[in-house]
Amino acid sequence: MNQTKPLSRLAVLTSGGDAPGMNAALRAVVRATLARQGSICGVIGGYSGLIHSQFQELDTRLMGNIIQRGGTMLKTGRCLEFLKPEFRAQAAANLKTKGIEGLIVIGGDGSFHGAHLLFLEQGIPVVGIPGTIDNDIFGTDLTIGFDTAVNTALDAIDRIRDTATSHDRVFIVEVMGRNSGFLAAAVGLAGGAEEIFVPEFPFTLDKVVAKIKAGADRGKKSSILVAAEGQKPGRAYDLAEQLRKKANIEAKVCILGHQQRGGAPSATDRNLATRLGVAAVDVICSGVSDVMVGLHADKVMTTPLSHGLEQKKGLSREFLKLASLLSN
Ligand code: ADP
Repeated sequence: MNQTKPLSRLAVLTSGGDAPGMNAALRAVVRATLARQGSICGVIGGYSGLIHSQFQELDTRLMGNIIQRGGTMLKTGRCLEFLKPEFRAQAAANLKTKGIEGLIVIGGDGSFHGAHLLFLEQGIPVVGIPGTIDNDIFGTDLTIGFDTAVNTALDAIDRIRDTATSHDRVFIVEVMGRNSGFLAAAVGLAGGAEEIFVPEFPFTLDKVVAKIKAGADRGKKSSILVAAEGQKPGRAYDLAEQLRKKANIEAKVCILGHQQRGGAPSATDRNLATRLGVAAVDVICSGVSDVMVGLHADKVMTTPLSHGLEQKKGLSREFLKLASLLSN
């Protein structure tokens, strides 16, 4: 954690995958800055906008009517140029030209990595706000967008369950989560899934087959299995194929895909975004930098960005065990 001089002119950007509640965070950041008599620019399109000097002055009226909107009005994206130090130097020069003293980054761990380097190499004060549907950021119990994504996926599973029950079918529902199973675990438990597959823990198909067969022997004809997409979206098709080959079980596949990212943020996400947005402004304006704001046991706290780069947030087995115990 670094202490620099107090700031009053800021910039804010959204980066990486969009998440419901990013707009609510943006609104909180902008209005909290203005409430301190500061000024703030939005950077359009994430780090690419920083490199190519795409700035927009933000005022309180522009923040009207966005708290309920999914996506991000600042646009977001992935920017390969920002992986190179010379482009980070260009980004810092652009910020200085605009008279900007500090940058708030709303995004995931990749975006935080970039922000950390901008601070280390260029001395730009940065504070991160965790916004990702994956909930895989060390330094916060909850990320902005996760709760909404869980509820969106859950709504889909409830509908699929109607069909699964009516047709006596096994369904594999694939949710997002490339390297992390937080979404799959939360959705699987809440959706009453028979089994949850996540990248963090290996599984044996034999056990799954035995469970489905034991259920069928007791008269249970439908099952919902929830799988995190893993390294390759479409992994659910591989699982279905293995079930067919191994045990002659026909499983239908449903890949929820990008619909999990969109939609109006839940109350939980809006309130989280609002709390973290105001906290980020308080932190950066007080001269503290190179940290992220996050929630721990319902308290807003800061964590050095470097901690998140060194440590991985661990998924507990609890939800998987409970789902397995109760799916009889
Ligand atoms: P998220 O922030 O949701 O994890 P990404 O991992 O795609 O999404 O990261 C978003 C952007 O952050 C990248 O496109 C890149 O511009 C920047 N970024 C990611 N990792 C690094 C890194 N190691 N060094 C510099 N910038 C990075």
